[in-house]
Amino acid sequence: HIETRLIDGKAFAAGLRARIGAEVAALGAAHPGFKPGLAVVLVGSDPASEVYVRNKAAQTVEAGMASFEHKLPADTREEDLLALVRALNADPAVNGILVQLPLPAQIDAMKVLAAIDPEKDVDGFHVINAGRLAVGLDALVPCTPLGCVMLLKHHLGSLSGLKAVVVGRSNIVGKPVAQLLLKEDCTVTIAHSRTRDLPGECRHADILIAAVGRPEMIRGDWIKPGATVIDVGINRVPREDGKTRLVGDVAFAEAQGIAGLITPVPGGVGPMTIACLLANTLTAAKRQAGIA
Ligand code: NDP
Repeated sequence: HIETRLIDGKAFAAGLRARIGAEVAALGAAHPGFKPGLAVVLVGSDPASEVYVRNKAAQTVEAGMASFEHKLPADTREEDLLALVRALNADPAVNGILVQLPLPAQIDAMKVLAAIDPEKDVDGFHVINAGRLAVGLDALVPCTPLGCVMLLKHHLGSLSGLKAVVVGRSNIVGKPVAQLLLKEDCTVTIAHSRTRDLPGECRHADILIAAVGRPEMIRGDWIKPGATVIDVGINRVPREDGKTRLVGDVAFAEAQGIAGLITPVPGGVGPMTIACLLANTLTAAKRQAGIA
C-alpha cells in the first residue's frame, strides 16, 4: 500500500505570486518607471471566462503590476478585435497581451493569436513562441504547462530519465507540456483519442499528465504504483443535490493508495495558471525593458 500525497498547487501558486510581487517591487525601486502591464481582452460574456478574467485582474494588481481590461460585445467584428490587438502591441505600458479563449464563431482565433506581438504573447500561443519552444530557444511558454512542470520539479527535483505520458495533444496543454518535459530530459509519450491501449500506455508512466477534458476518465488501475499524477482536467459534473461540482480527468478516489503524488481538482494545477501568467508578464516586461 502506498501513502498518496497531495500536491498543493494553491499554496505553491500563492508563494510564486508573492515572489513575483517582491521581484516587481525590487525592480521598480532599481529602475524607476518599471511597472509590468498586462492587458486582458474578453469578447462576449461567458460566465466562466468572466470569473477567470476578474481573478486575473485582481492577482495582477496584487503583484504590483498594471491591469488593463478590455471587454467587447459578443458580436464584435474580427477586424475590430485585430485593431485593438494592434493598438495594444503599440502601447508601451502594455507588456503582456492575453485574448481570452474561446472567441465567438465570427472571429478566427488563429488570426487573432497571430496578430499579437510575440514579445507580448504571455499566453505563449503564437506560432513563433511554440516554434521557439520546440527548437529550444527562449520562449514565452503557455501558462498551464509551465505550472505543471514547476510543480513536478518542486516535488521530484530532477525529472531526467523519467517516463512521462501526456494524455491530450492540444496546442494549449498537451503539446507544450510534452515539449517542456522533453526539455527536462523525460522520455515522453503523447497519447490522444486514437491511441491504442491507453490504459497500458498510462501504466508505464512515472509522470502521468491528464489533459483530456473527460470527467474521471483515467482510472486508478491505469496508474503505475508510486507514479506522480498531474490532473489538468476541469470538468463540472452534476451532484446528487442538483448542484454541480468540479472533478478532474483522473478518478481521484481510485488513485488513493496507488499514486505517489497527485494534484487535486480544484486546488492543484488550476491556481498555477494565473501565477504563471504573472511570471510570463514579468519576463516579458523585463525583456522589453532590457533587464536581464
Ligand atoms: P482539448 O479538448 O483541446 O483537447 C483534449 C485532448 O484530449 C485532445 O487531444 C483529444 O484527442 C484528447 N482526448 C479526448 N478524448 C480522449 C479519449 N477518450 N482518450 C484519449 N484522449 C482523448 O482540451 P484542452 O487541452 O484545452 O483541455 C484539457 C482539459 O484541461 C480540460 O478539462 C480543460 O478544462 C482543462 N484545462 C485546464 C486549465 C487550467 O487548469 N487552468 C487550462 C486549460 C485547460 P484528439 O486530439 O485525438 O481529439
